[in-house]
Amino acid sequence: MVLNDLGRKINSALASLAHKPAIDAEALDAMLKDLCRALLEADVNVKLVGALRTNIKNLVNLDELASAPVASQRRLVQRAVFDELVRLVDPSGGAATDRWQPVKGKPNVIMFVGLQGSGKTTSCTKLAYYYAKKGFKTAMVCTDTFRAGAFDQLKQNATKAKIPYYGSYTETDPVQIAVDGVARFKKDKFELIIIDTSGCHVTEAELFGEMTSIADVVQPDNIIFVMDGTIGQSAEIQARNFKNAVNVGSIVMTKMDGHAKGGGAISAVAATGSPIIFIGTGEHMQDLERFDARGFISKMMGMGDIGGLVEKLQDLKLENKDFIKHMEQGVYTMRDFREQLTNMMSLGPMSKIMSMMPGMPADLLGAGGDEMGTKRMRKMLAVMDSMTDAELDSDGQVFKDQPTRVERLARGAGSPLVEVQMLLQMHAQFAGMVKKMGGKNGWMTQMKQMQ
Ligand code: GDP
Repeated sequence: MVLNDLGRKINSALASLAHKPAIDAEALDAMLKDLCRALLEADVNVKLVGALRTNIKNLVNLDELASAPVASQRRLVQRAVFDELVRLVDPSGGAATDRWQPVKGKPNVIMFVGLQGSGKTTSCTKLAYYYAKKGFKTAMVCTDTFRAGAFDQLKQNATKAKIPYYGSYTETDPVQIAVDGVARFKKDKFELIIIDTSGCHVTEAELFGEMTSIADVVQPDNIIFVMDGTIGQSAEIQARNFKNAVNVGSIVMTKMDGHAKGGGAISAVAATGSPIIFIGTGEHMQDLERFDARGFISKMMGMGDIGGLVEKLQDLKLENKDFIKHMEQGVYTMRDFREQLTNMMSLGPMSKIMSMMPGMPADLLGAGGDEMGTKRMRKMLAVMDSMTDAELDSDGQVFKDQPTRVERLARGAGSPLVEVQMLLQMHAQFAGMVKKMGGKNGWMTQMKQMQ
């Protein structure tokens, strides 16, 4: 999960207010001290932390607050903290997040730049896979003639993601390869052509020289700078250097899967005004998330990321057409549960999907994490395959009064009774959340309005 440690600390700072009979200056200061410490530990720049503290103090007017009920006081402080954390990772308030998007029906040429090891080639493949799933005709070009094996790596990644690619073992001029690759894919009416460049040179000047030559000749629609999020706040200087060398349009921040310094890197880069468009959250090709400040902070604080979840759901080829409609209405049948479990594999690892759901307990998968979760999921599907259509279309309550039916299901699927009971419990838990999420006043509507 992204930055769950920082999220936990922030939540625990906020939770300290729950025991106070009223929120006064002393209580607010104590909470802010814990909050700031957590941010500094995540390598957020001390000046940015200072500004966040001042802003929250300005937003929370203690005099006005004094007459309000303590629950409203708490909500106001929580809201101020949330908003300021969002501002920390997106100071432009969404202006910078009017991000680049490829346009269908024309060739969008994208160039990836970044230092060696930052996750450039991996991110090229992830982006290609992301847009291929959205119906774009996508291809990749490898111009890295510097590092032996670079073309093989891209070839391997592209083959796995079923993305056409271009490169050369004999041509030594990266500019020529870029020109040839782009021309070939333009001729074949590709809509997204991703150029991977070298990130390895003896000097930075040489690296920047090569990047500029390719950019000058190919004239890409966007230059994406890939940054390693584990370097923390020193990301700022790197972002500035690259921006000065080439016209960086957007940023992909990699290795955000649970690294302690990720928050520092994101906030430092956000402060330079370069829009972060995606974050890398793992080594697999589906581990790429569109960066959205509200969704990011919301998820970090265990409040779910409905926008992200809906986007993932929309990419699926759902058999059960009612699924998304049901989610929006706050209805969650057994069939919806089965649909969701069936699709988990293509959505990505269980833990990532879970983190997008508001209120989802972090330890739901139990010891063993994703692998264990996948095994349990298969067993649960076997149980649901033994259900009747009426049972699948029900809200699960039918099993409550029928212990013998539950026993029969367990026998039929060859599962211990306790596992079937757990499945029903899990469904009930999801159904409760979906109920809260859906409907006019539900989470989903509120989040959509907020985002
Ligand atoms: P390049 O030299 O910039 O092209 O970097 P690569 O794409 O070869 O990636 C370097 C290493 O970082 C590889 O081991 C990747 O699997 C790993 N990597 C890339 N992105 C991520 C990410 O988002 N999370 C994690 N954990 N590892 C990543």
